[in-house]
Amino acid sequence: MKPDVLVLGAGMIGTCTALQLALRGHSVALVDRREPGRETSYGNAGLIQCEAVEPYPFPQDPAMLLRVAFKRGADVNYHLSAMPSLSAPLGQYWANSRGQRYQQIAREYGQLSSRSVTEHAPLIEMAGANDLVRRDGYRMVFRTQARLDEAVVDAERLQREVGVNFRAMTGEQLATAEPALKQRLVGAVHWTDPWSVADPGELVQRYADLLVQRGGSIVQGDAMSLRASGAGWQVQTEHGPVEAARAVVALGPWSDRLIRQLGYRLPLFVKRGYHRHYLGGRGPDLAMFDSERGYVMVPMKRGVRLTTGAEFAHLDAPSTPVQIARAEVLARELIDLPDPVEAEPWRGARPCTGDLKPVIGPAPRHPGLWFHFGHGHQGFTMGAVSARLLAEQMAGEACLIDPTPYLPQRFL
Ligand SMILES: Cc1cc2nc3c(=O)[nH]c(=O)nc-3n(C[C@H](O)[C@H](O)[C@H](O)COP(=O)(O)OP(=O)(O)OC[C@H]3O[C@@H](n4cnc5c(N)ncnc54)[C@H](O)[C@@H]3O)c2cc1C
Repeated sequence: MKPDVLVLGAGMIGTCTALQLALRGHSVALVDRREPGRETSYGNAGLIQCEAVEPYPFPQDPAMLLRVAFKRGADVNYHLSAMPSLSAPLGQYWANSRGQRYQQIAREYGQLSSRSVTEHAPLIEMAGANDLVRRDGYRMVFRTQARLDEAVVDAERLQREVGVNFRAMTGEQLATAEPALKQRLVGAVHWTDPWSVADPGELVQRYADLLVQRGGSIVQGDAMSLRASGAGWQVQTEHGPVEAARAVVALGPWSDRLIRQLGYRLPLFVKRGYHRHYLGGRGPDLAMFDSERGYVMVPMKRGVRLTTGAEFAHLDAPSTPVQIARAEVLARELIDLPDPVEAEPWRGARPCTGDLKPVIGPAPRHPGLWFHFGHGHQGFTMGAVSARLLAEQMAGEACLIDPTPYLPQRFL
C-alpha cells in the first residue's frame, strides 16, 4: 500500500514521529539505511531528562573557555581543522547562550523537555518496554563543596520556577546510596523525576515494533535519494522507489546533508560524543554525572556505560577518543572499572542548532516536506513530545504547545 507519509531516519526522533503519525491513523513508511535505533539514539546515556529544562549554553566564563581552549578537561574536545567551517553556527550558539536571549530560549526548550516523561510514558506502556526503564532519576555528584552549593542553589531555582524535583545529598548519604564509591565525595544533587533506560537502542526498536503493529512499515533505503515526485516525494528503497504525499526529514546529525541538497542553509553542527562499556565490577546503582569532570556513568544491560561530553569536529572525521581515555581515569578514582567490553569506543554525534532549539515544522520552500531534527543533548528525552508536536501540526490538530519557537523559518 502506498504510504501517506515517508519518515526518513529511524532514530528516536524519526521512530517517534512515525509512531505518533500511525497512532493518528496515517499510513507511514519509516525509512533508514540501518535497523531502527542503531546510531546516536543507540549510544547515548539513556536518560529521559525532564529536569533538563535549560539547554547547555556555550561557556561564557573566561576560565572555563581557557580550559576548553587548552583541552584540559574530559568534558570538551575540538578539532582545530574543523573550526573555520564551524565558526558561523558556533558564533550563533555563543550569542544565543547569553542574557535575555538565552532566558527566552530556555523557556521554549523547557516546554519540550519538561513534558518528556509524560509523553514517553504511554508509548513505553504500549510498546511493553517497562522492563527497560527505571523511574528513580540520576545523581549529579560533586567533588568540591563550593560547586555542590552552587548546584543546590540552581536546583532550588528550577524547583521554584518549573517544579522539577530534587534531593540534596550529603557525602554520607551519597556513600550509603552508592556503596561502590571508593572515595568520599562532598555530596550530590539527586534529580528524582528523570527516567533512565537500560538499553536506549532497544527502546527505539520496541517503538518501531509498535509502529509495525499499528500498521506502519519499516523499509531499508537511502534518504539521500529523496526527490520531489508529482505532488509528493519519492525515495529509493530495497523495494524500489516508494512515494508519499508527505515526507519528514528526521536524520539527526545527517539532516544537514539532505536539506543542503534542497537548498537550505541552517546553522546546524554536531557535538560528537563517545561511550564504552565495562562489565564485571561493582558499578553505580543509579546513573551518575561527575559534573565537575564532565562525563556520565550509567548502569546498562551491557555493563557500566561511560559517556563523554562534547567534541567539536566534522561528523565523519576519524575518532579522537581522548575524552573517553580521560573519563576512564577519572571514573576509576570513583569506582572499580574493569576492562572495557569494546575494543574501540563507540562514537556518535549530537545534532545541534545555533539557537539551541530543535527544528520542528514544515520546510519553508517545499510543500509536503517537514523538518524534525536538531535535538542536541536531549533528543532521546524529547523524542515522544517533539514527535507529538510535529504530528499534530501535520494533522492540522490543536498542538499541545505553541509550535512557533521551533519552526524552521526562524532561520530564514
Ligand atoms: C554520548 C552521548 C550521550 C547522550 N546522552 C543523552 C541522554 O542521556 N539523554 C538524551 O535525551 N539525549 C542524549 N544524547 C543525545 C541524543 O542521543 C540525540 O539527541 C538523539 O539520539 C538524536 O536522535 P535522532 O533520531 O535525531 O538521530 P539518530 O538517532 O542519529 O537517528 C538518525 C537516523 O538517520 C539514519 N540515516 C542517516 N543517514 C541516512 C541515509 N542517507 N539514509 C537512510 N537513513 C539515514 C541513521 O541510520 C539513523 O538511524 C546523547 C548523545 C551522545 C552522543
